[in-house]
Amino acid sequence: MTREMTCIVCPKGCTIKIELEGKDILSIEGHTCKRGEVYARNECVAPMRTLTTTAAVEGGGVVAVKSDNVIPKELLFKAMEIVNEVRVPRDAALGSIVVENILGTGANIVTTALIR
Ligand code: SF4
Repeated sequence: MTREMTCIVCPKGCTIKIELEGKDILSIEGHTCKRGEVYARNECVAPMRTLTTTAAVEGGGVVAVKSDNVIPKELLFKAMEIVNEVRVPRDAALGSIVVENILGTGANIVTTALIR
């Protein structure tokens, strides 16, 4: 089976083709750097993503948050459910951790904007 994907590691957006036999990777083509090859391999074996969303602020409103590292793609919805329960203190500084080590992934959810 051939799988085709667009590398999202940098803005160049190389088209990468991966030849698979079951879960075995036979070949990877189209990447123009090592990071693209690593991305393609991970996408086939264990895709990872940065979570970007918003969290509710105590007293009303929302603040932009994101994971400070990638987490398994399959855990994104579960992580969103946890973030939906969070109430960020109104005086939280930019970069404050609002969920530590979410789902045991080692990634923290941090604020990416000032609360106004
Ligand atoms: S393969 Fe390398 S150059 Fe191409 S999009 Fe991915 S990171 Fe960028």
